[in-house]
Amino acid sequence: MSTVVVLAAHPDDELLGIGGTLAKHARAGDEVHAVILAEGATSRYDADMVDVLADAAKRAADVLGLASVRNCSLPDQRLDALPLVDVTQTIERVLGELQPETVYTHFPGDVNCDHGVVGRAAWTACRPYAAPLLRRFAVFETPSSTEWAWPTSDAAFTPGLFVDISDTLDTKLRAMACYASELRTYPHPRSLQALAERAAYWGSRVGRPAAEPLHVLRELQ
Ligand SMILES: [Zn+2]
Repeated sequence: MSTVVVLAAHPDDELLGIGGTLAKHARAGDEVHAVILAEGATSRYDADMVDVLADAAKRAADVLGLASVRNCSLPDQRLDALPLVDVTQTIERVLGELQPETVYTHFPGDVNCDHGVVGRAAWTACRPYAAPLLRRFAVFETPSSTEWAWPTSDAAFTPGLFVDISDTLDTKLRAMACYASELRTYPHPRSLQALAERAAYWGSRVGRPAAEPLHVLRELQ
C-alpha cells in the first residue's frame, strides 16, 4: 500500500484529469487523499455554493474510494494574488501530515491561472528534502483548461505515462456526475460524453480502450 495525494486547485479538478487513475489506486489498496486548494465558487457563484461544491467533492470522493478530501478554502481564481509562499506552505503542511509517495497535480501551463499557481507551488513543496518519502511527482491535464492554454511552446502538455483506466472510467464518470454545477452540455470538455471520448482518444494512442495521460516530472526508483 502506498499513499497518494492529488493537489487540485478547485473542486472537480481532482477527478477531471485523473479520476480513473485515483479510482485504480484505491482499488489496488492505496490510500488516496484529495487536497483542494481553492473553494471554487466565489468568483462565479453566491457564497453558499462553497458548501454545495464541498458536498459534491465529498460524494465524488466516496464514489472514487478516496480516503479523504480536504478543502483548504483559499480564494477562488485569486491564487495569483497571494504570495506564492503562502500556497506553497499550505501544501507543505498537508504533505507533512500525509507523507505521500506519489503526488499528482496540475500541468502549470493551463489557461486557468489557479492551476498554474498550484502546479508551481506543489513543485516547490515537493522538493526532495522537503518531501523525503516522495517517489513520483506527475502532472495531469485538466479538460477545459489544459487544451485552452495560451499557445506558447512551454504550454504544450507532453504526456509520457498513460494509465489504463478501462476498468475505472465508469467510476470516474459517476464521480463527475456528483458535480452537477460543473457539468456542461456536449461537446463541452466537461460533459460526460466528452470525458469518455477523451479517455478513448488517449487510450487509442497506447492500444487500450481508455487511458489518462500524465507527464512525470520526477520519479525515484
Ligand atoms: Zn480548476
